[in-house]
Parts: sequence; C-alpha cells; structure tokens
Amino acid sequence: MANISRVAVVTGAASGIGAATAVRLAADGNAVAVLDLPDTGYAETVEAIESAGGRAIGLAVDVTDRDGLAAAMAQVADELGTVSILVNNAGYSHDLPIQDMTFQQWDDMTSVHLDAAFCTSRAVQPGMAAQGFGRIVNISSTSALGTAGRVGYSAAKSGVIGFTKALALELGPIGVTANVVAPGFIVSRMTAKTARRLGRDFDEHQEIAANGIPVGRVGRPEDIANAVSFFAGDAAGYVSGQVLFVAGGPRG
Ligand code: NAD
Repeated sequence: MANISRVAVVTGAASGIGAATAVRLAADGNAVAVLDLPDTGYAETVEAIESAGGRAIGLAVDVTDRDGLAAAMAQVADELGTVSILVNNAGYSHDLPIQDMTFQQWDDMTSVHLDAAFCTSRAVQPGMAAQGFGRIVNISSTSALGTAGRVGYSAAKSGVIGFTKALALELGPIGVTANVVAPGFIVSRMTAKTARRLGRDFDEHQEIAANGIPVGRVGRPEDIANAVSFFAGDAAGYVSGQVLFVAGGPRG
C-alpha cells in the first residue's frame, strides 16, 4: 500500500463500479470516503480497504437528499481533510417506455445522477481551489448516446457529460480537471437487475451481451476503476473535459 497522499470521495461505493473504484483509489494511496445508502454493503468496502492496509470511512447518505449530502461532504472534510478526488458514481438505470414513466420517476433519475453531482462538485470546489489541485470524475454510460426504453437514464447520463465539460472549462484555471468515464456493459447488481427483468439467467445475459462487444467479453467493475484511477492521478493533469467510453469497443 502506497503512503496516504490525498482524500477521495466515491458515491455509490457499496457495490459494483463504486466499490471497485474505492478499493482502487485506496490502493493508489488515497484515504477514501465510501458513501452509499443506509443498509447497503458500504461497510464491507471500508473493511476491504482497511484489511489491505488503506484508510477509509463509510457514510450512509442518500445522494438525492441535498442537505444530507452537503452534510456528508462536510463530515468527510472534517474527518479526512480537504477532498482532492471526487467520483460521482451513485446511480441506477430504469427501463421504462416514455408513456409509462411518471414525472416523479423522471425527477428521481435526474436527481440521483445530476443534482447529486452538482451538490458534491459545489461542495469540494473551495477546498480544491485553496490547494490548487482537484480531480472530478463523473460516471456516465454508453446510454448517454441514447438507449431505447431509457429516456430518463439517457438524458441524465448525457447531462453528466455536458456538466463535466462545463466544469472542466470553469475549474481548469484553479488546477481542477473534470472527466467522464462512460461504461458499457459491466457485471454488477444493475446489469443483474436487467437480466431479471428480461427473464434471463445472469450468465446467459452476459453471454448474449458479450456476443455484441468487439473484445468478446463483458466488462468488470475493475475495468472502470482502472480508468478512474488514471483520471484521478497526477499523470492525467493535462487531460480534462474528456469522455472515455470503457465499453470493449468504440463508442461516441
Ligand atoms: P450497482 O447497483 O452495483 O451500484 C450502484 C450503487 O449506487 C449502489 O451501491 C447503490 O446503493 C448506490 N446508489 C443508488 N442510489 C443511491 C442514492 N440515492 N444515494 C446513494 N447511493 C445510491 O451498479 P453499478 O453498475 O456499479 O453502477 C454504478 C454507476 O455506473 C451508476 O451510475 C450506473 O448508472 C453506471 N453504469 C453502469 C453500467 C453497468 O453496465 N453496470 C453501465 C454504464 C453506467
């Protein structure tokens, strides 16, 4: 384990991509705040980091609760110090034809993916400005390019890209980069849920997906964690406002 150098926050870090990212950023030498809903497995992510010799704290927060999220961000700064790395990952997909989607479901979708990223980015900006260094990495999706039956998710994930590009322009002068990782099919609870909805066994679902992916396999959470680790590190200081599709083939 490298010496602890910076403080990172990862939202939705109880499972899947967020958990792998938190573990990876800790292995890179950062103290990591692991944020997720109550009664999820976020304590297990903290335990995995600590048992590998890293430093982590876990916080139960619903990222759609603006005041709760702002308070959690303040708590991270109190307990671990100024946040240098922010990964907005918490989210979920919802497959629903537009006619069946309610305004509440639409609002929930934009709230979890966009409002939360706005809230956390706003919270970390003064500290990043004061230290002249910051890395913001937002998790979008290949659905940002449009997926049938996912108007809300596609709009929110596309919004994440515009938000990040604007951040890159605005915060570049104070030493902050902002980039997007846009995953394709990744094995996680989210894709397991889609398999269930389609009445497919998860292994069969992965096989079908892999057949349409140029590299011939589905992605793992670690594939995304690797990309986030690059954007979060010193070596990526001249890379900002970019969208990296990690999807086993070209997109975008
Ligand atoms: P996952 O379900 O394993 O992880 C999502 C995490 O976000 C969960 O731990 C969940 O509890 C948390 N979360 C959801 N709503 C929250 C809220 N309101 N407050 C706090 N935490 C909340 O799924 P995953 O695949 O690891 O998804 C991570 C991110 O990657 C999501 O933003 C998702 O849209 C994106 N993504 C996933 C895939 C994929 O194929 N799995 C593809 C593209 C994008």
